[in-house]
Amino acid sequence: SIPVLTIDGPSGSGKGTISRLVSQQLGWHYLDSGALYRAVGVAAGWADLDLADPAALVRCAFDTRVGFRDDPSGELRVLVNDIDATDELRTETAGAAASAIAAIPEVRSALKDRQRAFRQAPGLVADGRDMGTVIFPDAPFKVFLTASAEERAERRYKQLKDKGVSVNLDGLLREILARDARDASRAVAPLRPADDAVRIDTTGLGIDAVVERVLQLVTP
Ligand code: C5P
Repeated sequence: SIPVLTIDGPSGSGKGTISRLVSQQLGWHYLDSGALYRAVGVAAGWADLDLADPAALVRCAFDTRVGFRDDPSGELRVLVNDIDATDELRTETAGAAASAIAAIPEVRSALKDRQRAFRQAPGLVADGRDMGTVIFPDAPFKVFLTASAEERAERRYKQLKDKGVSVNLDGLLREILARDARDASRAVAPLRPADDAVRIDTTGLGIDAVVERVLQLVTP
């Protein structure tokens, strides 16, 4: 069957950057599953849906179209209902909305088939929270990335600053910790490493070193 490399971990653990680089090196497809949850959260906001109305949010999860495009500079752009929402999706407001709707079991099931459809030849790198545990439990390669909370907040801070978004580092650290706590404590698909995942603590490691370690798992 078509190989999958799952890369799970908390926010700011480096998943996005590492997954994209590894997928480019391998020539495999890339799934940013967090973008799907963010897209549904943002679309729910656009439609002024009540975050306490699960039925409406589930409908929104089924109805929201999400498209991925590589722009000429190699950056991944995300289209929500055909609108380029890349910058809005990156904000911590969108992350918090994603985390809220991601705790609804029926929203997670609504997005399941869409995620599995990314498994196409010659292979897939899947980035998220439950790629190795729920979506691709049979994946031959599984990684769980971690890093200290401070380093994760700093990475997100730098990412946002590079994009011209001004944020407060302490506030960001608090928001990230709150989001991780919710992701780890929810009843369905809580954030945790798959039993057969290789754990890599990326605190103090450079991007190249992590990419190298991950690639070694796939092509020893
Ligand atoms: O990875 P990212 O920060 O974009 O994910 C945003 C939120 O979406 C996470 O905090 C989590 O609540 C949710 N998510 C999830 N399962 C995934 C990917 C993301 O529940 N596979």
